Amino acid sequence: MADPVRLHPAIDHGIRPGDEAFAGGTLRCHCDSEKVEVRIDGQVAHNHACGCTRCWKPEGALFSVVAVVPRDRVHVVAHEEKLAVVDEAATIRRHACTACGVHMFGRIEDTGHPFHGLDFVHVELSDEPGWQAPQFAAFVSSIIESGADPARMDAVRARLRELGIEPYDCLSPPLMDAIATHVARTSGVLRTAA
Ligand SMILES: [Zn+2]
Ligand SMILES: [Zn+2]
Repeated sequence: MADPVRLHPAIDHGIRPGDEAFAGGTLRCHCDSEKVEVRIDGQVAHNHACGCTRCWKPEGALFSVVAVVPRDRVHVVAHEEKLAVVDEAATIRRHACTACGVHMFGRIEDTGHPFHGLDFVHVELSDEPGWQAPQFAAFVSSIIESGADPARMDAVRARLRELGIEPYDCLSPPLMDAIATHVARTSGVLRTAA
């Protein structure tokens, strides 16, 4: 019997549904004291498991769990001085705590990017219940690049489906459509209004 597939502590024991009327909460880094705190006003969207090599994930997890929220609803409320951008060259500028390494929010500054205006956040950093549940899994094949055994991918995908999280090897179809629509409008191929 193979070891059970451990995807992420927030989803391994089942998915808790989110609260439609959720008012938001505060993300806290993993430092023992002087935690960086980021307040999110309101609910997040497109929460999902991500298998890419760049999103922050807790020790031992195969996936990160990451959502988006409009950037004007993201406020650093404590210890902003501890934050630094992990990789200045990356499209998503991930602001991490320099003491514990936890990514507090990722921001796209390229105004031409399809997701400009949305910040990427990890709601597991908040104690408040009610955040949107993970909706799907993105970049599943990419976990191999972080060291996952290629022979276990069928088991990983089966476990995701068992939890009700459809696995994709890029983003979900609605998000891929949103990106392509943005590209088609930018190039002039698509002339309908946004
Ligand atoms: Zn920290
Ligand atoms: Zn990712």
